[in-house]
Amino acid sequence: MKAAVFSYPQGIRIVDVPVPQIGRGEVLLRVRAASLCGTDLRIARRGHGSIPQGVQRILGHEVVGEIVEVGEGVTDLAEGMLVLVAPNYGCGKCRFCVAGAQHHCPSGKALGITEDGGFAEYMRVPEEAVRQGNVFPLPPEADPVMFSFAEALACVVHGFLPLSVSFRDTVLIYGAGPIGLMFLELARLSGAREIWMADISPSRLERAAARGARTIVVGERKVKDVLRDVDVVIVAAPAPDAQREALEVAGVFGRINFFGGLPPGTPEVPLATNLIHYKELLVTGTTRSNNFHVRAALDLLVRQLDLSYLVSHTLPLEAIEEGLRLMEGKDALKVVLIP
Ligand SMILES: [Zn+2]
Ligand SMILES: [Zn+2]
Repeated sequence: MKAAVFSYPQGIRIVDVPVPQIGRGEVLLRVRAASLCGTDLRIARRGHGSIPQGVQRILGHEVVGEIVEVGEGVTDLAEGMLVLVAPNYGCGKCRFCVAGAQHHCPSGKALGITEDGGFAEYMRVPEEAVRQGNVFPLPPEADPVMFSFAEALACVVHGFLPLSVSFRDTVLIYGAGPIGLMFLELARLSGAREIWMADISPSRLERAAARGARTIVVGERKVKDVLRDVDVVIVAAPAPDAQREALEVAGVFGRINFFGGLPPGTPEVPLATNLIHYKELLVTGTTRSNNFHVRAALDLLVRQLDLSYLVSHTLPLEAIEEGLRLMEGKDALKVVLIP
């Protein structure tokens, strides 16, 4: 089968590899759609701590596939089912796993990062992942392309829930990429009174405006010159300036999520902690997602959210490098590979 294999420092190459063999408790998928995300771009360009030199890894962790083979002992999944695979699974026993936070398991694994993923024609789902419920059956009529966003949406659900957004809130989102737009959709669903989005790209903000957001082009205006007393600030961009400014524009009792991690090597960001103290701000960060968030994301996609407008490109697997370049260009939204 064809697969997009990453190795360091070679980068990503399309190669022919054997179709994976499955064992007891495992399933084999024919991949129907696998979307590219910022994590894939970072790995492709800079590598990843869990992919040492000499290791060949098939990336791809936002995957929808059709089950084509079921291993012995698997009773609740069957050939022909359309499924989403959630990437993160843990040991199942540590204090994080038993709390449902398998994404913090010290021996946690992630399909498409620490194990082979879905940028290939076929994908094996390991026994532990099947057993821990990482394979989610989808309605047969579900669009594989849109449902491949469920993992990204799950991370957004994870970042959104602690902010308790309600109809009384003004919400500000830094970063109008696909993740920022997903936050916008959740803020709309929650009835937020006013939603603002700030980004350096006017074309990205046009899409946000079309979805009901008021917009600020960073660089033309400072957010803090336009907005004050914001109830909820989400920093969905790897921007130290936005983190600093978030504390200034937040109002009393404001809630802030530093959702976007900063690239390694970024100098430590000095923050005006007295703003946190005197305004009684709640500042948090969230990272990745667990199966609780994936389930919530799937529910949203089935019942309440149409994110098809986020698909900017669908490409064959062989065009993965073009897809990565489109993402670097910042004009693309979600780029989805169809192996
Ligand atoms: Zn992702
Ligand atoms: Zn664990």
